[in-house]
Amino acid sequence: MKAACWHGANDVRVETVPDPKILNPRDAILKVTSTTICGSDLHLYDGYIPTMQPGDILGHEFMGEVVEIGSEVKQLQKGDRVAVSSMVGCGSCFFCQRDLWSLCDNSNPNAWMQEKVFGFGTSGIYGYSHLFGGYAGGDAEYVRVPFADFGALKLPQDIPDEKLLPITDAFPTGYMGADLCNIQPGDIVAVWGCGPVGQFAMVSAYLLGAERVIGIDRFPYRLQLAKDFAKAETINYEEVDAGEALKEMTGAGWFHTKKEKTFWI
Ligand SMILES: [Zn+2]
Ligand SMILES: [Zn+2]
Repeated sequence: MKAACWHGANDVRVETVPDPKILNPRDAILKVTSTTICGSDLHLYDGYIPTMQPGDILGHEFMGEVVEIGSEVKQLQKGDRVAVSSMVGCGSCFFCQRDLWSLCDNSNPNAWMQEKVFGFGTSGIYGYSHLFGGYAGGDAEYVRVPFADFGALKLPQDIPDEKLLPITDAFPTGYMGADLCNIQPGDIVAVWGCGPVGQFAMVSAYLLGAERVIGIDRFPYRLQLAKDFAKAETINYEEVDAGEALKEMTGAGWFHTKKEKTFWI
């Protein structure tokens, strides 16, 4: 199959590599129909994440069609259309049972390395270095999905890929950013960064009850998207002082009122 493989900083190549195989009875193999690049992939591309090895397949945001299942996969069948969580959760450990899949105790065989670097271990992540489990990513024609019953979400057939793909990472990441702000009805929320995750944070802020959302960035096309897609008011911090602009737009000292919350995405 063809896959996007990492070979060093600023060196990603589309190469022909062996097709993935079922390695564990709980695995499934997907034929990838859509995949996308995350801001986090830039850390790999720029060479900042240790434990990448030449030939590693990138990609943690992908969806596709189930083409093969292991003998213990119970919820999925060949032909199912699924999106896969970028974090690999086993579904049965202490953390997974509490919906804290990014802390899964069973999906990262290299958690011991992380304990030395971070002080604690995380789950595995597809295509995100050996520190995060060494899983082949989804920027490929096919990908192996471990713990497939748990990590692959069945999707309806009548919604296009591009509307569903963000559920693999960008939308829940933005939602979590908004959720962490404990937004109350009537709040004014400012979001720094109008990339995809920031835009989903803005939309989520409205979903959680915000009355006004203000997107802050320096790129006009992103600010335009924040207006059109996320229905946000906008500030270009290269044109104005963002703090002063926020005070003006909200009529308040923004660090001192209960009604305003700010967070970085
Ligand atoms: Zn991502
Ligand atoms: Zn787990």
